[in-house]
Amino acid sequence: MYDDLSLEHFMEGLIKRNPHEPEFHQAVNEVAESVIPYIIENPKYRQAGIIERMTEPDRTIIFRVVWEDDEGNIRVNRGFRVQFNNSIGPYKGGLRFHHSVTLSVLKFLAFEQTFKNSLTGLPIGSGKGGSDFNPKGKSDREVMRFCQAFMTELYHHIGPYTDIPAGDIGVGSREISYMFGQYKRLAHQFTGALTGKSLEYGGSHIRAEATGFGNAYFMEEMLKHHNDSMEGKVCVLSGAGNVALHCAQKIAEMGGKVVTLSDSSGFIHDPEGIDEEKLAYLKELKTVRRGKLSEYAETYGCEYYPDKRPWSVACDLAFPCATENELDLKDAKALIKNGCKAISEGANMPTTVEAMHLLQEAGVIFGPGKAANAGGVAISGLEMSQNSMRLSWPAEEVEKRLRFIMRDIHDKCALHGKEGDGVNYVKGANIAGFIKVADAMLAYGVV
Ligand code: GLU
Repeated sequence: MYDDLSLEHFMEGLIKRNPHEPEFHQAVNEVAESVIPYIIENPKYRQAGIIERMTEPDRTIIFRVVWEDDEGNIRVNRGFRVQFNNSIGPYKGGLRFHHSVTLSVLKFLAFEQTFKNSLTGLPIGSGKGGSDFNPKGKSDREVMRFCQAFMTELYHHIGPYTDIPAGDIGVGSREISYMFGQYKRLAHQFTGALTGKSLEYGGSHIRAEATGFGNAYFMEEMLKHHNDSMEGKVCVLSGAGNVALHCAQKIAEMGGKVVTLSDSSGFIHDPEGIDEEKLAYLKELKTVRRGKLSEYAETYGCEYYPDKRPWSVACDLAFPCATENELDLKDAKALIKNGCKAISEGANMPTTVEAMHLLQEAGVIFGPGKAANAGGVAISGLEMSQNSMRLSWPAEEVEKRLRFIMRDIHDKCALHGKEGDGVNYVKGANIAGFIKVADAMLAYGVV
């Protein structure tokens, strides 16, 4: 079984065992590229079959979700929870509600989460779940009924010591609240079985901001390591959700200039910079009114490009904060041509493998999502700690810890990703994330 541990042979076996799962293959391939050479140098991992075990989820739960829409029609969706690895802590990871959700997408996200959660240094294992239900265009009541139906089944599989879900695309504070309300009703207990809760009932300060702030901190650390800073940098961002808006806020505070944001219908280019006041407008537009970005362009008189992505805009730094594979080879070429110096991924796997290789070869500093966007789940981990202690830390305390965690993640990546005078952050994140989980699995024996 372990005679030929070449990347090609390993991937061939993985694809055979998991057919029709392109996103999962992509995520595993990206990790295996750096981890297989490390395993070959460290035979203890090879003999114990660690990479084979780490690429097979502990279990996958798939269930029917039935709910009634406002017209009285019975609607059926599919619910999932992939409990990937609990070697270093209970399963932990978000729930995604989006029409593109498939088992492959959730397996890729849960697999990524294994490394991401390990990098945070906190005792959290990995999981991901969700549904092909799309909250967009649904009424509050419909979303509530869906969330309650979804939780009625998910309830059996989660708990504060087993699996602690949180939000992801399509699952924000509204959805978490509906799901937590239903969980509490079924459990007859008030526990920290979900994170991303509101402050009134056990949520943590800075949780909403954490992924975006953390991504800006990670970029700051990468720049510092290369004797540079955020000051005066022109920044191109995609997305207009929780991650992108908070990332933009922190970049602006650090002295950078955010000139783009995007949503599923196009992007805005505001060369004057999207400052604090404009961000407050955007937060209201996107989270309260759930409107389109084109409204921003009308209000502030800037360009709006329908059906386009922002990567052709000249910039110093790029932050893909929308979704997987949103930055391809063509986009990478445009970024390189326009002088982009560094990329920090706020979304999960937003860059295709070919684009990532090209950017790295061109000398663009590349911070992969599993390191750069780990701030969100890290603060979820701290929400769990606060729930267990039955207390709530002030915002300053939580942000201080977030900053420390992001610096620590950066330093681990820099240590394990050192290549000559530079740093391969992709390799560093994969190896540093791998070691902690692999060592725990080795210690447990053959399980
Ligand atoms: N969905 C987020 C992520 O991709 C957060 C997960 C969590 O807080 O558990 O890391």
